Amino acid sequence: MKTTVEFEKYDFKQAIIRHLHSTLGTDENKANNHAWWKATCAAINEHVLEGLRKTQKKHYINDTRAVHYFSAEFLMGRLLSNNMQNFGVFDDVRDALKALGVELSDIMEEEPDMALGNGGLGRLAACYIDSLATLNFPAIGYGIHYENGLFRQEIRNGKQIERPDAWRDYGNPWEICRPESIQEISLYGYVETKYGENGRIQKEWHPGSIVKGLPWDIPVVGYEGGSVNVLRLWQSQSSDHFNWDVFNSGGYVDAQRENVQAETISKVLYPNDDTEAGKELRLIQQYFFCACSLKDIIRRYKRAHGDDWSRFTEQVVIQLNDTHPAIAIPELMRILVDRAELDWEKAWDICTHTFAYTNHTLLPEALEKWPARMIQKILPRHLEIIYEINHRFMQEVEAKWPGNNDIKAKLSIIEESSEKMVRMGNLSVIGSFAVNGVAELHSKLVKENLFPEFNELYPGRLMNVTNGITPRRWLKTCNPALSELVSDKIGKDWPLYLDKLQGLAKYAEQKIFQKQFMQIKHKNKVALAKEIQALTGIKLDTNAIFDIQIKRLHEYKRQHLNLLHIMALYRRLLENPDYDMHPRVFIFAAKAAPGYKLAKDIILAINKVAETINSDPRVNKKLKVVFMPNYRVSQAEKLIPAADVSEQISTAGKEASGTGNMKLALNGAVTIGTLDGANVEIAEEVGDENIFIFGLTIDDVSTLWDKGYNPYDIYDKNKEVKAVLDWLETDYFTPGEPGALLSIKHSLLEGGDPYLVLADFESYSSAQKEVDLAYRDKQKWAKMAILNTAKVGKFTSDRSIKDYVDRIWKLEPCITGHD
Ligand SMILES: *Cc1c(COP(=O)(O)O)cnc(C)c1O
Repeated sequence: MKTTVEFEKYDFKQAIIRHLHSTLGTDENKANNHAWWKATCAAINEHVLEGLRKTQKKHYINDTRAVHYFSAEFLMGRLLSNNMQNFGVFDDVRDALKALGVELSDIMEEEPDMALGNGGLGRLAACYIDSLATLNFPAIGYGIHYENGLFRQEIRNGKQIERPDAWRDYGNPWEICRPESIQEISLYGYVETKYGENGRIQKEWHPGSIVKGLPWDIPVVGYEGGSVNVLRLWQSQSSDHFNWDVFNSGGYVDAQRENVQAETISKVLYPNDDTEAGKELRLIQQYFFCACSLKDIIRRYKRAHGDDWSRFTEQVVIQLNDTHPAIAIPELMRILVDRAELDWEKAWDICTHTFAYTNHTLLPEALEKWPARMIQKILPRHLEIIYEINHRFMQEVEAKWPGNNDIKAKLSIIEESSEKMVRMGNLSVIGSFAVNGVAELHSKLVKENLFPEFNELYPGRLMNVTNGITPRRWLKTCNPALSELVSDKIGKDWPLYLDKLQGLAKYAEQKIFQKQFMQIKHKNKVALAKEIQALTGIKLDTNAIFDIQIKRLHEYKRQHLNLLHIMALYRRLLENPDYDMHPRVFIFAAKAAPGYKLAKDIILAINKVAETINSDPRVNKKLKVVFMPNYRVSQAEKLIPAADVSEQISTAGKEASGTGNMKLALNGAVTIGTLDGANVEIAEEVGDENIFIFGLTIDDVSTLWDKGYNPYDIYDKNKEVKAVLDWLETDYFTPGEPGALLSIKHSLLEGGDPYLVLADFESYSSAQKEVDLAYRDKQKWAKMAILNTAKVGKFTSDRSIKDYVDRIWKLEPCITGHD
């Protein structure tokens, strides 16, 4: 990695022009913003690739133990500003471009987001590989090179329209194609049982088709002298050869027609935030990237250790980001037992010292289950292996709980329903040496509610690692003004030692600092207001409270609770034009899964209520509502620095962690939230007086369900709730179309209000009143905002990664020096 001094000798201006000429074949007079962006990327890439080469050489020479982070999603966002910041050359490049008459902020807008993920889970993977590189831990991310990432969202007449996301249409400067590392994997076919010389049963899988995996490497630049690691993403391609002998002449055409075409495997990211179980292509995607990645890992291991498997678990640890890559467990067993011809026991010992699994959700609909029939068809040998794993596991269960068939049925990998299903969560717990939840509260629920018997059977296996976010992207890069103020006060190294933000606490009551801090917030609000006006035409009062809810649209995240409260405020203002409230702007951004009807109806409702309120002169001095289309990482980077209030209002027990909550608090937004996920730990850190907690707790929620919850009781008793729900039924917000927003009311009443929106309404509404009062006391608010930034150092992903390293991965840092 280059030192700052080496960079000082580097002439970015010259390099950018050189790439404009010789890489892009254009010149300063002809170049448009896109060409300037590409030339700038190419100049940065010289350093990226040099760092990559040095890091890989160092890892090779030292034959280091490494973590392999398997994830079906990596939500990377843009890389130019991040890579410049991490090299510490952002200002140099900006000045070089300025001297050429080019504005860096303009050309950065040319970069499409790498949106190869849905939301929190994919963004977590991106933050983790940033921290791994920064902390010099040998690591590689493995995933899928989707041709189309998460859909682009357009809003037409208030409705979400999905458009394909063609992020590579004009080439992606950050990826390197590695045809020399192509892997081939098998699908379909049948299993032959053979008897070896020593009487040993040998299984041979005769696949029905072969698919090629072409790896693309995305370099991951660590902060200031960290390593340059890689994210390796697999693209599927059809293979030249095909096992013709597999089919008898009669079966060929039919069997072929049913098979998924090779090229389609990596075509598109499934757009559900939770899982899409039951889709054959999705299972094939999962197997495809796991099998390619395992082959890649084993090829690298064998280069150093040949056929000696005894050191494999010393060198390799694989982290499964949710159950999406759980099929890697039977795949490694297949390789060890069928190919390397190890005994089952030895192979299982290796497996269960290789894998660790992160659980991301307790929502029953999100716990992956695959029909055994489907696995049988696509991966016939893997189904046999899963049955064998389960058979041996059932003997363990029998030994622990003799004769207890209920426990057996519950813990079995196989669910014996009308259609046999394979439970990927159970497989992951059984096949891993460590299982972690993603926040204290969530991990407690994993132990006590989701997997209590596993916790008894394998004491110590279930643990917690609280999620984190990289402060390089989520403060340093996205909020340069605040970053500079922070550096002035506490020094420049806080991006590496985020606990140092504590040093700001002593200025929380200092008038000058409060003024500086809030002036920056105001400047960020002005910049966002400008962006919003350009994008939506809506004009905002930047002295209003900017109240922001940005996340995937989901009933459990309760955007509709926020909406009902907005409608209640609107009603109060209509009934009493002097209703006392500080002006407030409610900003939403969210994508709904294309097949999730109610989520899309909530987007429609937000847009329709927004149109009505924003064009009603009786209220629009005090109240505005904005729905920002196409939520994504680069948009989050603009919204977060401008937030006064952060909405984290999920039903208690439903949000495993949340990471948006951390990003917003870090940027000085005050949270209004439930005691759910990481909100609990944020409250612990910032103190009860610097957060607005409301609503039912986990215990309240279970008590309420136990005693019987009837949302009509609230509807009948609370006049405001009744009025806003009935309002949705009229055509007030959808002129000429009464009932267009009825599904929301329906789900909250006849539907039984499964996420307790009405039950929490009153508590939420009072907490919002407190927010309003607190904001009007400028000094009180400034102090709260500052203390949020000062006290959330715990949530750096560097701390999360250190927790993983200490408790699970057991890695040593490998510092990349100079040649
Ligand atoms: C951080 C982030 C998320 C996760 O947000 P939550 O509020 O934790 O659900 C989702 N999408 C994007 C683009 C993000 O940056």
